[in-house]
Amino acid sequence: MSPPSVYITEPLPMVEEMVKLLEDAGIEAEVSEVFHEYVPEDRIMEVDGIVVADSRITPESVEKARRLRIVQKFGVGVDTIPIEVCRRRGVYVCNIPGINSLDVAEFTLAAILSILHRIRERDLMAREARWSDRPKVLSERLTGKTVGIIGFGRIGRQVARLLKPFETRVLVYDPYVAVSLVEEYGAEKVEDLTRLLKDSDVVTLHVPLTSETRHMIGRRELRLMKPDAVLINTSRGAVIDEEALYDVLRAGRIRAAHIDVWAKEPVSEDNPLLRLENAQLSLHQASWSVEFFREAARFCAENILRVLRGLKPLNVVWEK
Ligand code: NAD
Repeated sequence: MSPPSVYITEPLPMVEEMVKLLEDAGIEAEVSEVFHEYVPEDRIMEVDGIVVADSRITPESVEKARRLRIVQKFGVGVDTIPIEVCRRRGVYVCNIPGINSLDVAEFTLAAILSILHRIRERDLMAREARWSDRPKVLSERLTGKTVGIIGFGRIGRQVARLLKPFETRVLVYDPYVAVSLVEEYGAEKVEDLTRLLKDSDVVTLHVPLTSETRHMIGRRELRLMKPDAVLINTSRGAVIDEEALYDVLRAGRIRAAHIDVWAKEPVSEDNPLLRLENAQLSLHQASWSVEFFREAARFCAENILRVLRGLKPLNVVWEK
């Protein structure tokens, strides 16, 4: 019988640490050298476990997989995995919530501060030694502003915690959390998204992608925002209507946005958002810290080992 094997679907940073942990336990580990939009079906069919970050898995490929026992998400959002098919076929789907919440929250704060303090423009100006242009680029303080957090789970709460020293007013829209929890973080729960959008100077998204949250920020919602508002999206690209966001940013109807996540990933070079001056950008990297990769590699390897040793894995998504 061939030894148990695991396919790691993307060339993740620091992946050697996970491979070593698996190989030390007698498991063959193969790492894809390239990013595939869809995990290749032939690989899914041949392995006992998959570690997947941002590639998608089709329901058809899971239907055909005879050996597969666990799909371990290298992250939180599981909208790229056919959960129901996996559950029906007895394949565990697990994620690693919690480990990267602080990374995304710190990144969110960095993105907000970078926009308000115009770090990118000042950096460019300095490289060209444009000393006389200094009066044209003034910062704005975060202190005293109103920040709207949409989605008050692990990440949203960490953002509220990190905002404390800035003495911001924090509004929260999340119909699924109790007022008392929101108040514990010194924030105010609002029942209506419109109010949060109208009142906030900074709006930051921390919801999962679901049928309810897809395009929850569309043209109408963007137009409700203050003209000098800042929008941060580290949740999922499709939570915002990208076309509407482009139009609104281009027309200067809001001040700026930080876009970390994209409607289509990998983002294509001809996405017009890439050319907007008031869009600060990253490539789905809000959680990519050294600490996160080290802890996540260990978690994934240990969770797969649990399943291959006949134990139940941790963080099965349908049990939460
Ligand atoms: P979580 O499950 O702890 O929290 C999500 C919150 O969203 C919950 O409190 C839930 O009640 C709320 N919510 C659900 N539907 C809502 C709706 N319609 N309106 C308002 N609130 C709603 O998840 P988390 O760990 O905080 O992560 C949030 C999301 O961030 C993930 O699902 C993932 O898509 C994204 N994420 C991105 C990165 C990155 O690198 N950019 C990393 C980690 C997570």
